[in-house]
Amino acid sequence: MNFLDAKFASLAPYTPGEQPNLKEVIKLNTNENPFPPAPGVITAVSKAAQNLQLYSDPTCHTVIEKLADLFDVSPEEVFVGNGSDEILSFCFQGLMEHGVIYPQISYGFYPVYAQLHQVVAQEVPLAADLTIDLTSYQESDKTVIIANPNAPTGIALSRERLTQLVESNPERLVIIDEAYVDFGAESMVPLIQAFDNLLVVGTFSKSRQLAGARLGYAIGNPSLIQALNQLKFSLNPYNVNSMTLAAGRAALEDQVYFEKCQKAVIETRAFTKQALVDLGFAVTDSQANFLFAKHEKIAGNELFTKLRDRNIFVRWFDKDSIRDYLRISIGTKEQMVTFIEQVTQILKENGVA
Ligand SMILES: *Cc1c(COP(=O)(O)O)cnc(C)c1O
Repeated sequence: MNFLDAKFASLAPYTPGEQPNLKEVIKLNTNENPFPPAPGVITAVSKAAQNLQLYSDPTCHTVIEKLADLFDVSPEEVFVGNGSDEILSFCFQGLMEHGVIYPQISYGFYPVYAQLHQVVAQEVPLAADLTIDLTSYQESDKTVIIANPNAPTGIALSRERLTQLVESNPERLVIIDEAYVDFGAESMVPLIQAFDNLLVVGTFSKSRQLAGARLGYAIGNPSLIQALNQLKFSLNPYNVNSMTLAAGRAALEDQVYFEKCQKAVIETRAFTKQALVDLGFAVTDSQANFLFAKHEKIAGNELFTKLRDRNIFVRWFDKDSIRDYLRISIGTKEQMVTFIEQVTQILKENGVA
């Protein structure tokens, strides 16, 4: 017997990067932060664990207030969720009555959520240089969702250009997914008070060392936040667990640690990019915590497999226009030195360089 509702029979779920269970692996495949959580996070989590017999706070106010401070907005303009994935799912479920439009090459969850929530989706190809041309979005009445910087290219759009998009049709919602914004792009958060049709989504997974805790946020006009709460309280009022709330609050309280790690990732990205360019790779102008690179003498899939054989995990996408690229998360400097050494050896073995 198959009890799955027929409308989900062809649902193609998201494919997460592998989480290999080996200590000696260099894991550069899911854009996690290479550094551990801020020291205060561990203490806060163990303290929260002592009260796990109680439900978590459904208002999530400790984290919401801290985020409101940080972004200089009011708590009514902030929502938090079980990872930004949960928030994106709420967006697809409830804020896309007239359909959605997003880049054909972008975060792999957009088409999955569109299918899951039966939203009509329009995918717009990237320009030949892998940038996003906003013209078709500007003219559309569908809800727009853009990752900025985009994934997996890392290429960012300017605040000025995105503002033009938001302004071009106040009747249409624009969602900016800022999962990677802390690594160099311009945030749209300062504009949410000027535009009712702008929602910014962010995460603690990439720049705040909390991928495993599952914590994301959305910043927007109070009526948009109200809409997200309506969906959340109709599904799971306790969507963020108490240990994660404690972890998030503590992470936000250590801005010095945050900035130190941010700086290290940005510097290591520059080092790795230069080393790849020196080896003959074409590398996009990534403002994220990963690089997107291809070499004309070796296929993406082949390099991916050869690195994997050497216990280095990166991401390869089986998609036409980006088949020759690898997405390489930025690890520690030490990890990236090893990565470059191994790439150099592989190229030599292939008679390149
Ligand atoms: C990683 C990522 C997310 C999801 O982050 P979580 O908060 O871990 O769910 C959302 N959008 C983009 C573009 C991402 O790369």
